[in-house]
Amino acid sequence: MCGDQVDLSVVIPMYNEEENIRPLFERLFPVLERLVYKSEVVCVNDGSRDGTLSILEDELKRRGCLVVVNLARNFGQHAAVMAGFSKARGKWIITMDADLQNPPEEIPKIVREFEKGHDLVGTIRKGRKDTFFRRFASRITNRLVSRISGINLQDFGCMLRGYSREVVKGILENPEYRTFIPALATFFAKNPVEIMVEHEERAGGESKYSLLRLFSLQLDLMTGFSMWPLRILFFVGTGVAILGLFLATLIIILRLCYGPEWAAQGVFTLFSALFFLVGCQFFALGLLGEYIGRIFQAVRKRPTYILGWVKYSN
Ligand code: UDP
Ligand code: MG
Repeated sequence: MCGDQVDLSVVIPMYNEEENIRPLFERLFPVLERLVYKSEVVCVNDGSRDGTLSILEDELKRRGCLVVVNLARNFGQHAAVMAGFSKARGKWIITMDADLQNPPEEIPKIVREFEKGHDLVGTIRKGRKDTFFRRFASRITNRLVSRISGINLQDFGCMLRGYSREVVKGILENPEYRTFIPALATFFAKNPVEIMVEHEERAGGESKYSLLRLFSLQLDLMTGFSMWPLRILFFVGTGVAILGLFLATLIIILRLCYGPEWAAQGVFTLFSALFFLVGCQFFALGLLGEYIGRIFQAVRKRPTYILGWVKYSN
């Protein structure tokens, strides 16, 4: 299947996926063997706390064309994919999840698009098998992110994607802090395409994304690709300031017309206006903090991941 020169690398990030590795390999390797290309599978152990690593080490002895990248601890899915990219040797690189939500049987479809000359193969999940909440949230995000970032993709979330070596090179040379790979890739692509792929339910284990992690991913996507949130802040800020001025003038005029008695009863109005303004200020500060935090991280140039070791099977 593989040799010195590899055509296709399949990069799979794994975090506590002990139940899924074997079923995944049972389906993935036959698919790759049927291809006319030399292929390798690059598994990245993202600091798993279960048997993931020992199963991978065991598989290393049994299978050819397997590369295991072991990260020092848990750095998150996208950092793990970056680590996989840095060790992948193929001229085409496909990423996928370990939980069999992306059927390996769809890989030949992506390869066909590469053959046609596309350098980035995005995917849209057909009949997505996730909870209603996840689907609803990602529908909103996809729209919002397309609008804000000007990147026109229908589905940012599906990780079964194909990248040419040049695109991956571009991504690796721009090691931003907390990058969102599917969106960043479109920046380097010259001839991208999007295709439909099947989507299945998670085979075993649980989703590694809590509500908080999902939210932080959305923030990465939004602030990582545009300055629009900052500009919106400016417009909202201006609007709120004008409104505040207007309210203040109104209250002073009414106070002059109706005397102090009215003003005492108006305390609550004043307070509500104040609360509103304070709320807006906090919103603004939070958003500014978000950007400043990112600048801080970027200036420190901290690596996205720390490599433990890499092992190659024959
Ligand atoms: N993953 C990872 N590191 C993490 C979280 C997830 O490498 O910190 C991997 C995980 O093992 C899986 C993929 O990223 O292969 C997608 O994760 P998951 O299926 O939990 O996400 P969901 O499908 O719920 O979006
Ligand atoms: Mg999943």
